[in-house]
Amino acid sequence: MQSAAGMLHLLDLTREEFQAWLAQRGHPGYRAGQVWQWIFQRRAVGFEQMTDLPQALRAELAGQFLLDTTRVAAHRTADDGTEKLLLQLADGEQVECVLLRDDRGHHAVCISSQVGCAMGCVFCASGLNGVVRNLTTAEIVAQMLQLGRLLPPENRISHVVMMGMGEPLANLPHVLPALEMASRPDGLGISARRITISTVGLPAAIRRLAEQGCPYHLAVSLHAPNDELRNQLVPSNRKVGIGAILAAADEYFRLTGRRLMFEYVLLGGVNDQPEHARQLIQLLRNRSALLNLIPYNPVKGLPYETPSSRATARFVEILTEGGVNVKIRYRKGSRIDAACGQLRRLVAAAEGPVAPAVGSGPA
Ligand code: SF4
Repeated sequence: MQSAAGMLHLLDLTREEFQAWLAQRGHPGYRAGQVWQWIFQRRAVGFEQMTDLPQALRAELAGQFLLDTTRVAAHRTADDGTEKLLLQLADGEQVECVLLRDDRGHHAVCISSQVGCAMGCVFCASGLNGVVRNLTTAEIVAQMLQLGRLLPPENRISHVVMMGMGEPLANLPHVLPALEMASRPDGLGISARRITISTVGLPAAIRRLAEQGCPYHLAVSLHAPNDELRNQLVPSNRKVGIGAILAAADEYFRLTGRRLMFEYVLLGGVNDQPEHARQLIQLLRNRSALLNLIPYNPVKGLPYETPSSRATARFVEILTEGGVNVKIRYRKGSRIDAACGQLRRLVAAAEGPVAPAVGSGPA
């Protein structure tokens, strides 16, 4: 995206495109590596910080490219160490991203791919007002850079999940270059095996990824074991159907060798009954897949409830006995509105529209 002054964001260029830009102006190719190192390893937020570049080049870059265009509009920290940022973009839109810590020393980030979401899952705050726009590559990378700055210098982001606001497969032209920057050794250096793209299931896009040999994990958000219920919970299912999604997911597994993951938000009294577990067994038992069950955290204004512990335990028991590989994932940071879209709505409701602003690090 270009600014009002027609400036490009540097991170909307690949490293190769940036190198070509430098070469056209007579700068040596290694300058691209220096700039990338400042951005991805040394956490620079402005060209003036890049002190091993000639002053003239720093000025030229600052005159041509934007670098730090997101502002932290809200920053919440939970007792379990989870931190959530609401980032304001250059045009005033806002997106959420989350840093999760675990006791193995992992630092996972959950990032957004769109402002809002068109998929309309009925239990989700992100989709309540539909999709506003796709995020640019630079805006997706900016979430990782901002969250990385919350860590001490000796720590790095270890995992990335695209499970925040938006449907990543609806924005692949920007998502894939951003994940490339995350995974390249001269970018954030996060192993592709530690990057997961989460989708409600867009079969054509899943097949495209599979055919390209996408190196990332794919997590398909099922949320229901039959089309009738899924059509109610995930309206985008009406045009697609579970069968087509599973067939595309199988193709992904066949072509990439990446084990499939399925996500299932357990909604109390809605999709957490024994018959739902038994239907899930029919869907998943012959697949090399992991099913993540996520007990729902209520969202203000929505009628869905957390499942009882007894219903959750019974659900897991039936699935396990049926041969499905299942894990319960409790949402971290629920006290800070960490479920996607909640903080954005909360701040918008409390503050009204926030004036557009550019720059600055974590507040
Ligand atoms: S759960 Fe995900 S796909 Fe569904 S509306 Fe929310 S952000 Fe979109």
